[in-house]
Amino acid sequence: AEEQLRHSLKMDAVGQLTGGIAHDFNNMLTGIIGALELMRVRLRKQQYDDLGRYMDAAHSSAGRAAALTQRLLAFSRRQSLENRAVAINPLVESLSDLLQRTLTESVVLEMDLAEDAGFAMVDANQLENALLNLSINARDAMPEGGTLVIGTQRVERNAADAGRFGGKAGTYVSICVTDTGVGIPQSLLEKVFEPFFTTKPLGQGTGLGLSMVYGFVQQSNGFVTVDSHEGQGTTITLHLPLADIEIAENETPAAPSPRSAG
Ligand code: ADP
Repeated sequence: AEEQLRHSLKMDAVGQLTGGIAHDFNNMLTGIIGALELMRVRLRKQQYDDLGRYMDAAHSSAGRAAALTQRLLAFSRRQSLENRAVAINPLVESLSDLLQRTLTESVVLEMDLAEDAGFAMVDANQLENALLNLSINARDAMPEGGTLVIGTQRVERNAADAGRFGGKAGTYVSICVTDTGVGIPQSLLEKVFEPFFTTKPLGQGTGLGLSMVYGFVQQSNGFVTVDSHEGQGTTITLHLPLADIEIAENETPAAPSPRSAG
């Protein structure tokens, strides 16, 4: 759970850092552009004295910008997806401690797990992050307290049914996060998955939670649905394709085959 907490804090930090990184990067570019500008003026006036200094300034600014993008690239590589057959109920249950600590005392956490929920091919870390993001949103939607229910279900979907949400016919494991909070106004339902869309006060919301959830589910070949009623609450459901493996109860899935190098 500590590992999970650290991971979720890291994810939160990523969101909050995005703005900071863009700001730093912009400062570096401004430094480079400024130095080039000065060089152009001096060249036009054929004043060569300060050119070396400006060139050094541009060079060091560009160097810092390159170092920053290197760090970002290294970070995003660590974040890459590793899809495996993940047992959904145990993953949800393992989050319960962490969630209890994240939720305010006035929020009651309930689990409603279907015994046959099964496995989905997903990146376990990303699924945990997605569920944490959804739970934190649910908590924030219930400032006066309420109930947060995390439920799982196995659902058969025909082409028409799944197609409405851009999915394919087949068996899905759905994980729903339901709150009894303020709800999302109809006019905002389309917007909430957009990156940087937030209704939270400055410094509290990054607007990246749901867009990360959306990205994760898309990459897992699933889809997300929202059902919300103002003043009553919200259910956000992740629909993930059931992993096509049969595993006896209490057995862990076979180790995934080694990934190819690269
Ligand atoms: P953030 O939480 O940082 O604002 P998100 O992308 O996670 O970013 O959410 C975007 C917006 O969607 C929130 O600011 C809020 O307005 C709305 N929202 C998300 N989840 C819920 C929920 N469970 N109940 C009510 N509104 C929600």
